[in-house]
Amino acid sequence: MTPELSSLNENQQMAVQWQEGPLLVLAGPGSGKTRVLTYRIARIISKTPDKYFRILGLTFTNKAAAEMRERIETLVPKANERTHLTTFHSFAADLLRQHGHHINLRPDFTILSQDTDRQTLLDEAIDEVNKFETEAKIKYSGEKLLPLITRLLDRSVTSDDITNVLSSNDISEPEVIGAIYTAYRGRMIKENKLDFGGLMAEAYSLLEQKPAVRKQIHRIYPYVCVDEFQDTNLSQYRILRHLVNPSTGNLFVVADDDQIIYQWTGASPKRLHALRDDFKMTVLQLPENYRCPPQVIDIANELIVHNIGRSEDRERLRAHKVGGEQSPIRIMDFDTFEQEAKWVAKDIAERSIDERGKCVVLARTRRLLEHIIRVLVDEEQVPAYLAMRKNEFIGAPMRWLHAVLRLANARQNREQLRRVCKAFFTLEGIDLNVKDIMSFASTEDGDYLRAWHKEILLQDGLEQHSRDFLVKSIPVLSDRLDFERFIRDAFEWFERLPENSPETWEHYTEFTEEKEAWEGLVNEIMCQYGREQVTLHLLLQELDLRSKAPKPPNNAVPCFTIHASKGMEFNHVYLIGMVEDQLPSWNAVKKGDSSREMQEERRNCFVAITRVQESLTMSYSREVFGWPKTPSRFLKEMGCLVLQE
Ligand code: ATP
Ligand code: MG
Repeated sequence: MTPELSSLNENQQMAVQWQEGPLLVLAGPGSGKTRVLTYRIARIISKTPDKYFRILGLTFTNKAAAEMRERIETLVPKANERTHLTTFHSFAADLLRQHGHHINLRPDFTILSQDTDRQTLLDEAIDEVNKFETEAKIKYSGEKLLPLITRLLDRSVTSDDITNVLSSNDISEPEVIGAIYTAYRGRMIKENKLDFGGLMAEAYSLLEQKPAVRKQIHRIYPYVCVDEFQDTNLSQYRILRHLVNPSTGNLFVVADDDQIIYQWTGASPKRLHALRDDFKMTVLQLPENYRCPPQVIDIANELIVHNIGRSEDRERLRAHKVGGEQSPIRIMDFDTFEQEAKWVAKDIAERSIDERGKCVVLARTRRLLEHIIRVLVDEEQVPAYLAMRKNEFIGAPMRWLHAVLRLANARQNREQLRRVCKAFFTLEGIDLNVKDIMSFASTEDGDYLRAWHKEILLQDGLEQHSRDFLVKSIPVLSDRLDFERFIRDAFEWFERLPENSPETWEHYTEFTEEKEAWEGLVNEIMCQYGREQVTLHLLLQELDLRSKAPKPPNNAVPCFTIHASKGMEFNHVYLIGMVEDQLPSWNAVKKGDSSREMQEERRNCFVAITRVQESLTMSYSREVFGWPKTPSRFLKEMGCLVLQE
């Protein structure tokens, strides 16, 4: 069954039917880039029913990857057997799990998602360098150096290049910092832990060193597709170059250079130039916007022409939708941000319950959103949520479960043993000493999980049903590695915990929410990979890469930072805090109108307003949290406000 192409315009059809070789679809927001990408994947699969190859589709967030999977599945049933639609990070983790032994990484590596853990590792790297550069420790600390190390990893700088890269960026003491960077990467490998940047840098290093691995990838994935390419950093781009078979060049990329909003994590307009040069891309534009009302398209065009250095061949956006008589745009001004928040909350509350869920509140920063959520929830009794990443579970039951599984996966991981002990103390009030368990383990088989198990069963204070659970279920995990059964048993045990200490349990208000998030994530991972394929390593690595945020309540109003809203669309957009120092940010205002920071802020505003399907409300206040403010220059550029000079 071939997906029906008649619902696509001529250029979209051309993109979907593009045969072989590289193609760049460079087009504005709402022009159907993601739609074209999904149709193209669906078309290739349905045209090759007797083939076994898979199509690799890369994007940035798990949410976007899941959405792509869903859309393709509706076009071609069982498409997931022929596709691998995932994030760059998850792809890199898979690659390293399978082939990381070439660079001395074991498949059970863990992911360092917390900055505090990364700082500790970096401090250890500084100690190492301090042995021959005796002032390193006095001058540098993990906390201070981490942002620089992150930037270097985002570019996959190699040990050979590091000194040059640092010198050409005017970083003082390039040799010492270079040695620290190399020591940090060495430690990640030695301790079998990778941070997000390290994941990408090591995946690149592996692909660079091993042509045979590249060849295997080319065989499995003869077609590679990327959504939102404009936000790739250098590491991701370098990986991508190795993923595409050079003899066919089957790379299909959709992008919009007016929507680059991740410059701070290494995205750059330069990358699109490099892509066009390196792959000799044919460029196709999609002229029409299907998402927004024409009045919104007009102001978006007015705004973005103020950015300097845009691609010369960019056309103005054209609206496919026809405008109604009433303008879909409202501009609201207030004396204080408190009044602004109250008005926005009330305006949303006056809509029907169904409509509320189709609204979004967007702001440049989280602080404004947190305030508006309080007003929506407390004063208007309208459920609302902040869409943000949650790195770790916070309640003791889920922390314990997660740490035990991680310890089962890496039996000598001191950090996970510490977490197991800490969470168990919170749950049962039994305090085991980490060092004692480690030294006990060293007299036996060195296995911290088994040692913890033996120690805990020696404790008199253990409740009977907790003892029964531990006696029966820890061996299920430690000896048989049946983690699914262990997780089921653990949940049953958690359900009985309130029997011993109902007062303590009341503190775990987030348990139900976290349990739901856990089950949702595990289910998602099992569906994506297929139950049989999911090992404990894979489960834990995928959990590390995903947000643990709970599923939002039905019809709750989403409140997103602009960054989190990319690629999405909503009926009614409320863009709040349209003042100088917010949008554009304080930093961009300080750097000046022609700075790259200001160009990026303008693109942020462009992304925000082009999420609209029906109506756009922009608001600003003369005072925000006690500080006097002036309306955003972008309002003037869009022709929405005549500002006095
Ligand atoms: P962004 O840059 O914001 O990610 P995009 O270019 O990826 O936007 P899509 O999300 O693919 O745009 O499409 C925007 C909306 O327009 C979607 O609701 C999509 O279904 C719709 N759309 C795209 N093309 C057509 C078409 N030919 N006919 C009808 N609707 C379309
Ligand atoms: Mg898109």
